Amino acid sequence: MTPSIDQIAAQLQGYDPQSLRADAVLPFLAQLVEPVAASEQVGVFDALDRVLARDIVSPISVPPHDNSAMDGFAFDGSALAADKSLTLQVVGTALAGQPWQGQVGPGQALKIMTGAVMPAGLDTVVPQELAQVSGDALTIAAGTLARGDNRRKLGEDLMQGQPAMRQGERLGPAALGLIASLGIAEVPVWRRLTVAYFSTGNEILSLGDAPRPGAVYDSNRYTVFGMLHRLGVQVLDLGVVPDEPAALEHAFTQAAATADAIITSGGVSVGEADYTKAMMKKLAGGSGGVAFWRIAMRPGRPMAVGRITSSGLGNERSAVLFGLPGNPVAVMVTFLAFVRPALLRMMGSSATATPMARARSSEAIRKKAGRTEYQRGIVSDVPGGGLQVRTTGNQGSGVLSSMVQANGLIVLGHDQGHVAAGDEVDVMMFDGVL
Ligand code: AMP
Ligand code: MG
Repeated sequence: MTPSIDQIAAQLQGYDPQSLRADAVLPFLAQLVEPVAASEQVGVFDALDRVLARDIVSPISVPPHDNSAMDGFAFDGSALAADKSLTLQVVGTALAGQPWQGQVGPGQALKIMTGAVMPAGLDTVVPQELAQVSGDALTIAAGTLARGDNRRKLGEDLMQGQPAMRQGERLGPAALGLIASLGIAEVPVWRRLTVAYFSTGNEILSLGDAPRPGAVYDSNRYTVFGMLHRLGVQVLDLGVVPDEPAALEHAFTQAAATADAIITSGGVSVGEADYTKAMMKKLAGGSGGVAFWRIAMRPGRPMAVGRITSSGLGNERSAVLFGLPGNPVAVMVTFLAFVRPALLRMMGSSATATPMARARSSEAIRKKAGRTEYQRGIVSDVPGGGLQVRTTGNQGSGVLSSMVQANGLIVLGHDQGHVAAGDEVDVMMFDGVL
């Protein structure tokens, strides 16, 4: 059993839901969520972005034989002398995929192509461009190369019987290639997560609705969809739900019956008409519970987390709830900072942190100590090395255009004060994430 909200809270020093440090959120969520338990076999192409459910032990050695790293001439490197050139007789050619069948004796060499098997007794390759050839005579000038050069050894990438990849690895393009290089056609991966999401608010319009005074078009479902898609989870879009008890109950119950996690936006701040919060409380299972936080962060602040229970057909089932704020930038920031790492943990991934970089701030940034601030930043290369970052203009929590301009979020920690121009800052990078 995973612990309840109250049990987790009881273990945390100085836990204050009314003013929670942003850096306390991830340790909290790590206890609230747990990795899925079921796995399945999928083909290599379908394994992209999935998480490996067991270690992969290499069934073969890669490469399976010593082979040449260059087009050139293979010979026995023990004949090299530091101060004398070496002349050898070329007796044949070894092509990749066509091992040389004859003998190569003392004083002899073999023309060899990249990837071709190194015949027994030969351990060194002189690249074509460093060899002088006349007829079948090959001359290598003194000091051109050392014994063992330009030979790839059997198993230098992977050795038969050794773990090639560990459980919990999220499979990217390089991992797919590695799996295929082992001759493995199917791999065990954790089952895919299903994440349901909906937007709340009476003022939220869906695409196609006519504009009306005081109303805004829903953007959160689209940013959330995109960020979930990048994680490779199955998504369940439940639309825009008005702040009405019956509609909210229907959406939450439907989500909890099928999804592993539910992401909502809006309706969790203090001044809300409050049906969303009331419904979250009502549907929170006895074993789960929902906490309503005010996080010391900007943007972001209000957030609800917990579990929502559905008891349709007699069997109780619960889904993890991430009740995000309504403001469009706050949704993206809280997703990247908290929801994404929590979902990766649920997916079984051993790496859950969003990639960070250090960059020199090209401007002074005003920052209040006592809260974590996430400022939209534009990171660029510094000529001559390193990274620099400047903020996008308006940092309002509703200014979504700033997220489009930005390629990272400058993260200024809880205790940090003002930043001077030239100071190094942490940046959460969007590349591959957004
Ligand atoms: P709330 O947290 O519900 O008080 O919402 C805070 C602000 O975010 C309000 O200005 C809302 O109109 C806006 N907002 C809430 N949900 C969305 C949404 N799905 N798309 C765009 N703006 C939203
Ligand atoms: Mg609202």
